[in-house]
Amino acid sequence: MIDASGSTWPELESAWGSGKIAVLAFGAQEEHGPHCPLATDTWMANGLATRLAAELDAVLLPAVPYGEAWSTSGYPGTISLSPDTVKQIVMDIGMSLKGQGARALVVVNGHFGNKNPIDLACRDLKRHHAFPVLCLDYPGLEEAAKEVCSSEPAAPSFYHADEVETSIMLALAPACVKMDKAVEEYPVFPSTFGSEPIMLDSICRSGVFGDPRSASADKGERLLRIVTDRSLSIVRDFLERARG
Ligand SMILES: [Zn+2]
Repeated sequence: MIDASGSTWPELESAWGSGKIAVLAFGAQEEHGPHCPLATDTWMANGLATRLAAELDAVLLPAVPYGEAWSTSGYPGTISLSPDTVKQIVMDIGMSLKGQGARALVVVNGHFGNKNPIDLACRDLKRHHAFPVLCLDYPGLEEAAKEVCSSEPAAPSFYHADEVETSIMLALAPACVKMDKAVEEYPVFPSTFGSEPIMLDSICRSGVFGDPRSASADKGERLLRIVTDRSLSIVRDFLERARG
């Protein structure tokens, strides 16, 4: 693996020349309850991106530490980019990579709000610039959570500052998690949730969705292993398809 942050340009020239792909974590600066840091999504995406880059012998790009976090912008500390900015960041990074002769880009998305703009950028890069880009949104996490975790998610496939995210943080950055501050909260979602823009601080006091209290580093490691394996298999299929 080549960590682009600490590399020189000749090292990158030779990496692209030998056909290495780039891996980019796209995170967020967003509330994660009273116990997890604001950069939780960036830590998590970067943790997965680092493992993928190592297994694929790829180039790990510096993570993007902000994302589209409108729905949690009512909590102090959340900093939100517009969807256009998120899309443009992926476009600009993709075009830079293409210009240098990189083979392909894998984006590891760590935050729900980034998904649509990243998908649009991937489409644009492929359709109009013939540059292969893949976006991973923690594939396999729902099955992994059912297998590994004991608490119920606050809503299907909705993991936020709960046992899933807290466990992964305990595996990746235990010193950043304040377990003595962890609380349980299961907000009541209005029937219009998903159909109407809703600020999450209007339905959830703590910013925790679910129950993080039984989180552990061991569970986080198991979750990461399952998601890493599923991601690797998708990336390998993607590279096969890109080869044509
Ligand atoms: Zn998160």
